[in-house]
This record gives sequence, C-alpha cells and structure tokens, in this order.
Amino acid sequence: MSTTLIRNVEWAIAWDESAKRHVYCKGIDIALSGDAIVHVGPDFAGRADATVDGRGLMAMPGLIDIHAHPSHEPVYRGIREEHGVANMYMSSLYERSQAFDTSDPALRRASLEVALCELLKSGVTSVCDISPIYDGWTDVFAKSGMRGFLAPGYASARWRLADDRSLGFDWDEARGRKGMEAALAFIDGLAKHSSASLLSGVVSPMQIENCSDDLLRDSLAAANDRKVPFTLHVAQGVLEHLEMIKRHGVPRSSAMPSCPTPIRGSVGGPRTTSARSPTRAARWRIARRRSRVTAF
Ligand SMILES: [Zn+2]
Repeated sequence: MSTTLIRNVEWAIAWDESAKRHVYCKGIDIALSGDAIVHVGPDFAGRADATVDGRGLMAMPGLIDIHAHPSHEPVYRGIREEHGVANMYMSSLYERSQAFDTSDPALRRASLEVALCELLKSGVTSVCDISPIYDGWTDVFAKSGMRGFLAPGYASARWRLADDRSLGFDWDEARGRKGMEAALAFIDGLAKHSSASLLSGVVSPMQIENCSDDLLRDSLAAANDRKVPFTLHVAQGVLEHLEMIKRHGVPRSSAMPSCPTPIRGSVGGPRTTSARSPTRAARWRIARRRSRVTAF
C-alpha cells in the first residue's frame, strides 16, 4: 500500500485522544497509507513512497459543510449579495427563487463543479448538498472525490409572490408525495453507485412552511427507517416566522423539537440538522442573512 509523508509540517491541527480535543502541533510529520492516517508526530521513521515538504503549510482534518446548495448558489453570485427586498424584511430569498430559473441540468452540473472546487480549496472535504434531483448529480460529485451527503429536496407547496410584500403558497400535496418517493428511491440507489463508499443520502423536505405536517412526519420516519440524516429549512426569514404564528399560534421554528404544535416532538433528534437562525437573533438580522446553524 502506498504511503505519503508530509514531513515537518509547519502547523497541524490534530486530535489529542487523552485530552479529548483538537490541539495545534508544530513541526511534526504526518503519514498517510491507503485511507488511513498512520503517523501524527515527530520523526516518522517508516518508508514513504511520496514525500511532501510541509514547511510553510498547515495540515488539518477536512472541514464538513453541513448545508449547501452547490447546484445553484454560484449562479446567484453578484446578485444575492446586493439584493434585498425592503418589504420582506430585506430577505431576497423568495423573489430570487421566483426570478431565476436554475433548472437546466447543464447549468446545475457546471455550478456544482465550481462550488466543489471552491470548497476543496477552502479545506472542505465533506458536503451536505441539498438540491433537486438532476442528471449527472452523482457523477460530478463522484468525480470530485469528496464525501457527499446528497439531500434531494421536495415539498408540498411552492412559494408564490403576487406582490413584493406578501408570501403566498401553491399547495400540491400529491406533488410533494411524488417528490418524496423519488427522493427516497434516489437515496436508496446511492448504495449501488460505484462511489458508494463516499456518497450517502439525507432525507430533505425543503422548508417547514412548504411541507404539510404529514409529509414532515413521514419524511422523518423514512429517515429513521433508513438510519440516514434528516434536514429541514427552518427560520429562514421573518415572513416564514409570521406565517408559522398565523398557522399554529407559535413560532414553531424557534424551538423545533419541543414547541407545542401539531408536530411537537416529531421533528428533531440526533440525526437532524436544519438551516435556522439563533432563537435570540434580532429579527432584522434573520431577514438579512439565512443562518446555517446546526441544531441537534
Ligand atoms: Zn438551504
């Protein structure tokens, strides 16, 4: 088995088993053999097939991005940063998603490739990619060599904007169910992919306000059955927060696992993540920037 040695790396971030935490190390050797790290410390004495001079470099474990939309976010570059709708508490999310069509599979593949290259250059080696299913998704991901948690999204409703001040919804429960079935088939099929060791699925009903309670419950049950993660967009904007209060009397986004709503206690758990804002964040900040905080 081939061994690669990074000799005398300037700085390294390594796991200290006795301290049970990551620590900074200086001037050490790191040896990799196959898919294993076989040495982290001074003076590696084994044989190396390839040696990298670590002077001036930092080595660290690969970063994990638990929430990304690489198949379309690069397309919004230069637009998203400058675009806010004052009547929607400066959120551009709803208008942007209506104004730009990013459904072309070729566009999605190109966007994904750009995003994964940038993520790799930033030290990210594992990504949770929340996207619609499109041709070539798994192949581009496999080409990158990154670990992919692929989360095919679906929902019971779509946002509808009749003006710039109110958020409407086009409900189609059958469409949501069909999307869920396709997503689960996709997730189950990943086990047969040639890069199956690096690719796995995540159950991802898209937004809390766009999914019926039944769809959310069944989605979580499907994730638990398969022992795969579950993710959901929550607290993306003030309009969603107000919509949740209107429907349920409480902002269930603020305390998802325990809030007194029809889905109390059913969404959330050890395998659950969500895109959500800190509960005490100022509302204008929530509207300006969707937060990506892990919620366990
Ligand atoms: Zn998102």
